[in-house]
Amino acid sequence: MKIGVMGGTFDPIHLGHLAVAEEAHQLLGLSEVRFMPAGHPYFKEAAAISPSADRVNMVNLAIAGKPYFKVSLLEVKRSGPSSAVDSMATMKKELGDGDELYFIMGWDSLMTLHLWFEAARLIRICRIVAAPRPGYPKPDVSQLEKDLPGIGARAVVMDKPLVDISAGSIRQRVRQGLPIDGLVMEEVADYIKEKKLYQNPQR
Ligand code: ATP
Repeated sequence: MKIGVMGGTFDPIHLGHLAVAEEAHQLLGLSEVRFMPAGHPYFKEAAAISPSADRVNMVNLAIAGKPYFKVSLLEVKRSGPSSAVDSMATMKKELGDGDELYFIMGWDSLMTLHLWFEAARLIRICRIVAAPRPGYPKPDVSQLEKDLPGIGARAVVMDKPLVDISAGSIRQRVRQGLPIDGLVMEEVADYIKEKKLYQNPQR
């Protein structure tokens, strides 16, 4: 089995995340893609993020009806910060020998992957799949090889989809009272409204 994992804050999960997961699913013939919301994100440690329960609920609403999309509660269930490498190592242990893990991310994340905690071990545990992100150049894996030896053989750099959506811009629109149709699934937009998320000016 080939299993894709997309880690992120998912605050909120948006159509960019879903399009990237769909593309990776099709291109690589993945049996499933697991969205893994971060419990206490490594890079966003200081920022106030929405409660895990809300972020998980939004993922569930967004993936309903797509049996090959799943949610992984591995990181939200762990107390304290979690790193991608630990999560993927845990997941790997639960899989069979022939199973392969693919960590899915945007081009922006691939460019800084060498700075991640134990990046060298991470790319031994799983392959990396990177999707375009508007505003970011296509990563040159031979360049990345200098900072993270072995990445060239472990990364799949996709050329599509190109979706200009970020969770940050959605939070900002909500704060400004602007519509977010076409940026998130309708059920997620309704949830944000109902729970009055993203009203806090600090983010
Ligand atoms: P924020 O705006 O809060 O930083 P985000 O939109 O980048 O959030 P995250 O949950 O932090 O969302 O992202 C999880 C992963 O999804 C990251 O690897 C990121 O690169 C990728 N990603 C997010 N949005 C897109 C997009 N529109 N296209 C491609 N990749 C994306």
